[in-house]
Amino acid sequence: MEQLIYMDNAATTPVKPEVFEAMRPYFTEVFGNASGIYRFAGKAAKAVSDARDIVADFLGAKSKEIYFTGGGSESDNWALKAVAEAYEKKGKHIITSKIEHHAILHTCEYLEKKGYEVTYLDVDEYGVVDLEQLKRSIRPDTILISIMFANNEIGTIEPIREIGEIAHERGVLFHTDAVQAYGHEEINVDELHIDLLSASGHKINGPKGVGILYIRESVKIGSFIHGGAQERGRRAGTYNTPGIVGFGEATRLAKEHLAERKAKETALRDKLIQGVLEQIPYARLNGHPTKRLSNNANFCFRFIEGESLLILLDQNGICGSSGSACTSGALDPSHVLLAIGLPHEIAHGSLRLTISEENTEEEIDYVVGKLKEIVGRLRSLSPLYEDFVKESK
Ligand SMILES: *Cc1c(COP(=O)(O)O)cnc(C)c1O
Repeated sequence: MEQLIYMDNAATTPVKPEVFEAMRPYFTEVFGNASGIYRFAGKAAKAVSDARDIVADFLGAKSKEIYFTGGGSESDNWALKAVAEAYEKKGKHIITSKIEHHAILHTCEYLEKKGYEVTYLDVDEYGVVDLEQLKRSIRPDTILISIMFANNEIGTIEPIREIGEIAHERGVLFHTDAVQAYGHEEINVDELHIDLLSASGHKINGPKGVGILYIRESVKIGSFIHGGAQERGRRAGTYNTPGIVGFGEATRLAKEHLAERKAKETALRDKLIQGVLEQIPYARLNGHPTKRLSNNANFCFRFIEGESLLILLDQNGICGSSGSACTSGALDPSHVLLAIGLPHEIAHGSLRLTISEENTEEEIDYVVGKLKEIVGRLRSLSPLYEDFVKESK
């Protein structure tokens, strides 16, 4: 096969061989329904419970506060819809940000149609939410603040502790979509004042279709999937034992190697950012220069269409994305880039490269070189660029 340089880890990651090996017996040998009474089922139940303990330990939570779900989108839907329903007597106002994942934004739009009111907080030029605006937006009928831990497009890490403190001082619940941060950043739900937290397996070298929702014990919300008594009656459905085991093992590995992996990724990321900004004119880094995920680099190249760039990168064996996997294919520029104040024409020329510890320095050099070549080629075909060069002479 031709070479493949994978730099789209924010979209999904490969299952690590160790994770796959840990899951394997639960497809074939240990297939029993984890809810069964016989000892054979007990083996599956034990595996589910061990995975739950690993996740709880990683988050500084209690095991009974961890609920396995069908992924990040389900966790986000559950958190928002269930809090809205359970706390509607207190009020119908929710606060979120303009740069959330669509699993949050589209759920908010759904709730607006059901009579809830949603405030979408602004972010600054780096994508950091405005804490003063947050304080001003809280009302007596505010029931939930949902702000993502780290942005999936531009990698900016939000001031989660401060947001949690503000929420709790004002008696409002705090949910965070931590899908991009889980396994990459240290997270302690008590220290950060988090009441609900979403994470997903396939973003952390675990399997697709499994996630978690952390629900603080004191939060009284209803079930999302009605049926059997699984997950303390709050999320019915036969246990996805292999998936849950995979999520647990991926979490265990992520925790064990967190610091080492972060250091390695940060060095590669900074080499990539520096290379691009130094070698390619009119390139811009999107997101915060330092408060960003260790694997995220997001650029805008003026006078370029993001789509054309991705196609030419792909022809050179490089997988990147124009923003989020969910918006690619759509012609609208990213809502995140518009929220940080970029004009449409610049937001169109964006490129997200999300690396992993598996990438090498040689790959970074190769990608920077190819990018320089491709951006130069595309600009040479652009009448806008021609005019711009003439004018600036
Ligand atoms: C990927 C992602 C999701 C969705 O998770 P799935 O497991 O794919 O449903 C939600 N939020 C963020 C920030 C993400 O990056």
